[in-house]
Amino acid sequence: MAALVVFWSPARGFLRRCWGQLERSVLRGLPGPPWAPALAVQSPALEPTENIGEESNKAPNFLDSIFWMAAPKKRRTIEVNRCRRRHPNKLIKIKTNIDVCPECGNLKQKHVLCAYCYKKIQVETSLIRMQIKEKEAGPFNASTVETVVLYEGDKPTEKDEGKRIIERNRKRPSWFTRN
Ligand code: ZN
Repeated sequence: MAALVVFWSPARGFLRRCWGQLERSVLRGLPGPPWAPALAVQSPALEPTENIGEESNKAPNFLDSIFWMAAPKKRRTIEVNRCRRRHPNKLIKIKTNIDVCPECGNLKQKHVLCAYCYKKIQVETSLIRMQIKEKEAGPFNASTVETVVLYEGDKPTEKDEGKRIIERNRKRPSWFTRN
């Protein structure tokens, strides 16, 4: 204890001298109010408020443009979140109406056309259309008659007389029956 007192008395004197020097240097450098503690406040709420009429001329505060959204008060654990996300009601339902296409064997929905077969028909139909266009040489020469599509091995019958006949040089597809 005595050692502390012995040590403390010169230290106090030293500190006091230092403080005096600092005070003097500051006072010489800055011609302002005396060095004294003051309350530092940084808050927009304590600014002097102006009249409402003048406020409309003022530039908008940057805080006015922020859209404040509700923020969660508490963190939800990953277990809780996963239970919510993987709830059976939220999962994709298992489809039981899948069937095998009787034509091509690909899988398809029961009440829906088979996409593979539909594509095949689309391609064949567009080829037939192109052949019709070549035959008639122009869009305005089309005659208003029925079209008969003949595949390899088909012979035109008496019923087909006067009709537009398109001959395709391939085997008749199973899905394209002859009327
Ligand atoms: Zn199919």
